[in-house]
Amino acid sequence: MRYLINTQEQPSAARNIWEDCSKIIKLEIKEQPFVTWFSPVKPVELTADKIILQIPNIYFAEWIDSKYKSLIHRALKQTTGLDLKYEFRVVEEDFGNPDIPEPPVELKIKSAPIKTSPQVPNGLNPKYTFDNFIKGESNELAFSAAHAITQNPGKNPFNPFFIYGGVGLGKTHLIHALGNKIAVDFPEKKVIYLSTDVFTQEFFDSIRDNKINEFSAFYRKMDVLIIDDIQFLKNKEKTQDLFFNIFNILHQHNKQIVLSSDKPPKELQGMEDRLISRFNWGLTADIQPPAYEMRIAILYKKAEDIGITISHEIMDYIAINITSNIRELESCLIKLLANSALNFKEIDLNLAKSTVREISTAKRVAVNIDVITKITSDHLNIDEKKIRDKTRKQEIVNARQISMYLSKEMTKLSLKNIGLHFGGRDHSTVIHACDSVKKQILNDEGFKKTVEDIKYKIELTCG
Ligand code: ADP
Ligand code: MG
Repeated sequence: MRYLINTQEQPSAARNIWEDCSKIIKLEIKEQPFVTWFSPVKPVELTADKIILQIPNIYFAEWIDSKYKSLIHRALKQTTGLDLKYEFRVVEEDFGNPDIPEPPVELKIKSAPIKTSPQVPNGLNPKYTFDNFIKGESNELAFSAAHAITQNPGKNPFNPFFIYGGVGLGKTHLIHALGNKIAVDFPEKKVIYLSTDVFTQEFFDSIRDNKINEFSAFYRKMDVLIIDDIQFLKNKEKTQDLFFNIFNILHQHNKQIVLSSDKPPKELQGMEDRLISRFNWGLTADIQPPAYEMRIAILYKKAEDIGITISHEIMDYIAINITSNIRELESCLIKLLANSALNFKEIDLNLAKSTVREISTAKRVAVNIDVITKITSDHLNIDEKKIRDKTRKQEIVNARQISMYLSKEMTKLSLKNIGLHFGGRDHSTVIHACDSVKKQILNDEGFKKTVEDIKYKIELTCG
């Protein structure tokens, strides 16, 4: 045995083990699949009986499991002498970063020899079903439409089906559920789920490997194409062009297209108009944050799934304090269970309180000018965009000045940068705004209170 598993030193132990394993795996498989599937894998943790591997999305887990499971087990055994298991942890990386350059595209591609592709996994996670999706007012339309589509994929008025809403509200769950049901009810139909980052990555790979034709042919053959987080196509013009073509062909042939996004189509900046107009062809449905009753229902259901019983008082406390999304409700329960096990404590209200606190702190982001502008405009009920415009309407000038003042107070940005953010204004305008706000704070109690409230909201949101 080469490794003593000391869980205190788990991150570096995990790294060492995985490094040795990778060498073995590399010897046994071809270079391209190794790079594609194993280079994104990051060892993050070691427990007494398994190593936790971080991967960028569930697609990797399914593919690696289906192809390389025994190889990995063998490699783990060889390097550690133990029957170590492995487990994936999906951490989606943000490909929405506009800094990622688009590759230069030469669309005149030589046709590469067509490889008979191995059975490609459909990317669907069987754990997400309609059965374990809790319905409520906030997701009613999205749920019923998703369900209706599964009766008659492609040949319904909901094509494309465009579902949008904030993070952790169940978009991914719902579109997997839709895909899973179609895959079961219509086994002859080709269903594929993928996240926009995987789609983009595959597109880049296909350019690199001269396989654009195969890439686009593959997607054009689908009966149901489900793409998650389509907002990440923003500013990726070439990928948008290709997606546009695939979209048209599928739609013309009555194939079902399902898309999710964090915003409604018309708010997707950096997306071509012709795509946005197509997104509106079918049905656009939103998912809202769950109301209190639904949060309670979710907590009970998830507690049952995890196998813990928690008193109503505690459920109530969590439901009142965690309001923004379902993922957080779920992770609160899991954390609560972990905190109780790790500290040998009963699950009681105190433990619930500290767990909720933990979750709300983890969520915090650093104060930044975008948050300040957003919270200020929300608070004053003003369209955020107008704050950056030239408008001289008093209420907008007011909101703009408050945002500038708070940006100066709460961030380290220079006057020049602050001015740039607000529609490219001069630094002297920012100085003037700050002075004017300071004066009004001194002279007007109501105004002072407004600024304090906004500041408080920003502090609540940020760490
Ligand atoms: P999104 O894609 O909108 O960010 P997800 O679909 O990933 O959100 O949901 C986050 C978590 O919350 C998942 O574990 C999912 O199963 C769960 N979840 C979300 N909505 C529901 C729901 N209505 N019923 C049950 N679980 C839900
Ligand atoms: Mg999602």
